[in-house]
Amino acid sequence: MIKRNTVQKMKIMEYLMSTKSHPTAEAVYAVVSKDIPTISLSTVYRNLNAMAEDGEILKFEVGNEAHFDADISFHHHVYCKLCKNVFDLHDREIASYITEKANIPNFKVESTNLIFVGKCCDCAPEEEMTQNAQASPEFMMN
Ligand SMILES: [Zn+2]
Ligand SMILES: [Zn+2]
Repeated sequence: MIKRNTVQKMKIMEYLMSTKSHPTAEAVYAVVSKDIPTISLSTVYRNLNAMAEDGEILKFEVGNEAHFDADISFHHHVYCKLCKNVFDLHDREIASYITEKANIPNFKVESTNLIFVGKCCDCAPEEEMTQNAQASPEFMMN
């Protein structure tokens, strides 16, 4: 079976691979529609959902919106509730706890959808950041 609209899917993937911003479907549409003016928001939605279902990209929901990520490696996210940015969290201790130590009876964990919600360093007052600077995990800013 020949898949239709492969160019659209390629453009969507190309954009997702180029960004670490974990865009929503609307944000993907805003960029992709510059290259493909005829593409519709619902087409972008359909492609993103199909790609997520096929395991080609990650889809997760936070702040009542679905976000998409071309990085399908085992990692987690931090979400700033003020500027609504999503950042990658590559923390080996959290990852190894989940894959090795977390003991959920009668259940085999394959993936998680772990999102830390709070304020990023651009949004939080400085005293709040220094308060738990010691405990805060490192995460990659864009
Ligand atoms: Zn922020
Ligand atoms: Zn990510």
